[in-house]
Amino acid sequence: MRHSLTDAQARWAIDEVRSGRMTQTAVAAALQATLSRINQLVNGKTYRHLHGTAGQRITDGGKLYGLAETPETRRYREARFWDRVDMTAGPHACWPFKGVTGNRYGLTAAGQNLAGSTCSHVVAYTLACGLPAAPDRKVLLRHLCDFKPCCNPAHLRPGTKGENNADTWRARKEGYTGAREVADPEPPPTGGWKIISGELAVMLRASDESRFWARVDCRADDECWPWIGRTRNHFGYGQMRWEGFQTALAHRIAYAIHHGLRLKEIPSTTVIMHKCPDPELRNNCNNPRHLQAGTSAENIADKAIHGTDCRGETHHLGRRYPDAVIRKIRERYWLVPEVERPTITSLANEIGATVTAVSNWLKGDSRKEAGGPTGPHRLTGSS
Ligand SMILES: [Zn+2]
Ligand SMILES: [Zn+2]
Repeated sequence: MRHSLTDAQARWAIDEVRSGRMTQTAVAAALQATLSRINQLVNGKTYRHLHGTAGQRITDGGKLYGLAETPETRRYREARFWDRVDMTAGPHACWPFKGVTGNRYGLTAAGQNLAGSTCSHVVAYTLACGLPAAPDRKVLLRHLCDFKPCCNPAHLRPGTKGENNADTWRARKEGYTGAREVADPEPPPTGGWKIISGELAVMLRASDESRFWARVDCRADDECWPWIGRTRNHFGYGQMRWEGFQTALAHRIAYAIHHGLRLKEIPSTTVIMHKCPDPELRNNCNNPRHLQAGTSAENIADKAIHGTDCRGETHHLGRRYPDAVIRKIRERYWLVPEVERPTITSLANEIGATVTAVSNWLKGDSRKEAGGPTGPHRLTGSS
């Protein structure tokens, strides 16, 4: 990276990319800038004065980081912030941000999408007042106690830059001796300060469970609850990351939550079977009342009863070779005089199957239900 871009260059880059005349890569090459710099510029992450968003707080509720913000998730994230504030000295004393040494501001990366600021006192004030985002950057939060890491919202008062400077000068004149007594603390909003505390592990679990149920269409108790989440596996089963498993199946999670289990407490040999009355929604249902633990054998028997077992061309492995294709091959092989028979290898090459597979089809050892003539023959046979 050579130098930072001038406003004129930045404006030109935005124009070129927005109008579609140039790609970001081309602009980056023309300005001898890195692609990531151009990308941030075009997306309004930098040079925000050119986008008219300078000074604005960006809070997206954690979407950027893939955090689905359910009320429980929000509660957990706020509680985790307050967990880092030392409130042991009581409601009137200073509440320093843990880990800060000396008279410095506390910093928290999580504050960025919680409140639009990484300063711990700004985050504390915003959360305690129940604001959606921290006050505008032109509004400064004055520490009435002169103690920068303090996160007690009663010690913070919105003010102007001038007032804040006056505070600094007064503190210097007095000779800073540590946190000051606050004679006129900031009054709490109606309903009091909103400070969330509790057992973090319990709140995290509640948050995780709420994120799971947010992906399920929870209907009446006796109805099927389809998966409406985005992630599914090849067979259409809902899946999500859960308790360290990258691709845990949704109905197994539903079963585990309902029975107060951890996923790893369900042995991998145990199948969670669908007992749904509605065959349409079978396999896509996450209603715990429709789910039952069983063995693989029980599941196969269950599928046979309900006619939901996959065989032949409806099985995922059989989809490439429909019944009609196999029937045709059998006819071409068995319904002609022996001298005119195509070789098994040529048949296999023609449809892209293995010689063994074709041989088994011809013998009738597999895909019986496809129909057509079958007969005995030698594997080497190619008369
Ligand atoms: Zn204080
Ligand atoms: Zn169901």
